[in-house]
Amino acid sequence: MPKINNLRDVYIEQLKDLYSAESQLIKALPKMAKAATSTDLAQGFEDHLEQTKGHAERLEEIFEALDEKPTGKKCKAMEGLIKEGAEAIEEDASDEARDAMLIAAAQRVEHYEIAAYGTVKTYAKLLGEDDALELLEETLQEEVETDEKLTEAAESINVEAEEAEEEPTASSKR
Ligand code: FE
Ligand code: FE
Repeated sequence: MPKINNLRDVYIEQLKDLYSAESQLIKALPKMAKAATSTDLAQGFEDHLEQTKGHAERLEEIFEALDEKPTGKKCKAMEGLIKEGAEAIEEDASDEARDAMLIAAAQRVEHYEIAAYGTVKTYAKLLGEDDALELLEETLQEEVETDEKLTEAAESINVEAEEAEEEPTASSKR
């Protein structure tokens, strides 16, 4: 791999990391949607899957303008976050508790993305990459909105999980 010298190089490295993160999420979100019991939560994951495909496309557009390739880097942080989501899916849990764990995992993912897009936006601004800046801002907004929707979903689902703790349902013994 060539030496990373300047901010443009760092920018490209960070964008590659994000492209890997988004690509991994495109594979993980359908599994999270399938595992969710709440139809609202499942729909939320489905909706964010469509947005996430758009996030990957925006990054491809940015790479094309930079005349660079988005591939060649694996986002290990996203790999770990998705593993935690998979744990939530596999765990022996009540439907309500599993939904609460899925939300917990998903919010970690969104916050990771919010941090990463904030960073690359700062670089794009400094580098005068105005078109990229606009695309990155659009994605960042969708990540923030998704996080807010998850907070909203948690408000009812966490309460349901709280009640499930006292009265285990048959589904919790699967
Ligand atoms: Fe995203
Ligand atoms: Fe996201």
